[in-house]
Amino acid sequence: MDEGGSGRESYDVVVVGGGPAGATAATDLARAGHAVLLLDKPGRIKPCGGAIPPRLIRDFAIPDALLVAKIRSARMVAPSGKAVDMPVGEGFVGMVDREHFDPWLRARAEEAGADLRDAAYDRITRPDDGVPLVHFTTGTGADLARHAVRARLVIGADGACSPVGRAEVPGHAKMRQVFAYHEILRVPEAGTPGAEAVEATRCDVYYQGRHSPDFYSWIFPHGDTLSIGTGSARKGFSLRSSIRALRAATGLDHAETVRREGAPLPLKPLKRWDNGRDVLLAGDAAGVVAPASGEGIYYAMLGGRLSAEAAAAFLRTGDARALAGARKAFMKLHGRVFWILGMMQWVWYRSDGLRERFVSICRDKDVQQLTWDSYMNKELVRAKPAAHARIFFKDLAHLFRWVSP
Ligand SMILES: Cc1cc2nc3c(=O)[nH]c(=O)nc-3n(C[C@H](O)[C@H](O)[C@H](O)COP(=O)(O)OP(=O)(O)OC[C@H]3O[C@@H](n4cnc5c(N)ncnc54)[C@H](O)[C@@H]3O)c2cc1C
Repeated sequence: MDEGGSGRESYDVVVVGGGPAGATAATDLARAGHAVLLLDKPGRIKPCGGAIPPRLIRDFAIPDALLVAKIRSARMVAPSGKAVDMPVGEGFVGMVDREHFDPWLRARAEEAGADLRDAAYDRITRPDDGVPLVHFTTGTGADLARHAVRARLVIGADGACSPVGRAEVPGHAKMRQVFAYHEILRVPEAGTPGAEAVEATRCDVYYQGRHSPDFYSWIFPHGDTLSIGTGSARKGFSLRSSIRALRAATGLDHAETVRREGAPLPLKPLKRWDNGRDVLLAGDAAGVVAPASGEGIYYAMLGGRLSAEAAAAFLRTGDARALAGARKAFMKLHGRVFWILGMMQWVWYRSDGLRERFVSICRDKDVQQLTWDSYMNKELVRAKPAAHARIFFKDLAHLFRWVSP
């Protein structure tokens, strides 16, 4: 048997994937004194719009230096081109570049005491004693080396395609997904074509069937660069052509392209996050991305934290039923909001007529405040039942076309 990197042949936990979910799980477990190995496959920047809410910045102590932009409003654009601006009010939405954010999170896990390796997970075997043996490789070509370490528990935080999930957790292969694609552009200089399409403190969200028949498209500023992207689960819909068209429509067709990249985005939390024995999933691997918005970073980090808590209980008691605690705690906190967002996506993203009405509803100050309150703080504000009821009836009025958009 080979070693994990610092002379150890066995760990309490091997975390596969050093994105927001895995790095958070590894940090929390290492801080609690557990022996942790964090494996992350090098060579790829995670495709991501990079928008994070203040709740994440607070709960996970993200330093200001990692924020490349601070967003003060969102512009919702309807199929007709009519736009509604939604000012954030107090505070801001942070923007991070995953190129720097993810390595910083991994470095924090290492500082907390986790062993970190640039390595690709291969498989888990269970020799005679039943304890998982995690196989992984480092290097490439002539430098490729194979390793294996023992672990009492494996946390699969290896993204939506999760090799760990596919091999170890029943139902993973059927996970529902949208495919999201974006291009990173250099922000055009003032006075040049496309410059007016970008406002440094505003995110633009396009609800237009021609750019996405079942999701939305976006322009998110990131300081010197921006992310312009779209998503769709519809087979045959060309995301690249959609972005080409959106770039042309906004004058950004002449802007310098830095990168083009895409990735799947889960649409629904999986029914099971663990295998009832020695594997637990977290983040995209467990399917925790908010429907309708596609927000995943906060939920991945919270999922990482809850998986660390469930892992600690498992390590303490040896009872594998403790692993189910991660999903249970997550759904208790956010299951209702995920359900509401899923309904919203199903109701409003179906046709341009409905999208036009949806954007029109966003003019309502109550809608704006509830949207921002729930996004920024990840809590439904219970103190405002009257506003909830008003919004519900306004939604119905638009849905059944009792009012014009
Ligand atoms: C185009 C796009 C735009 C998005 N925009 C936003 C946004 O603006 N805001 C937001 O909140 N969310 C956004 N999301 C969603 C967000 O990016 C994800 O939900 C989030 O990254 C999930 O974190 P994670 O740690 O679970 O997985 P990931 O970030 O996918 O991390 C998985 C990690 O596992 C590693 N890995 C994979 N396979 C292996 C292996 N075999 N061995 C070892 N390591 C492996 C990868 O290298 C990676 O580091 C966007 C997603 C996409 C695709």
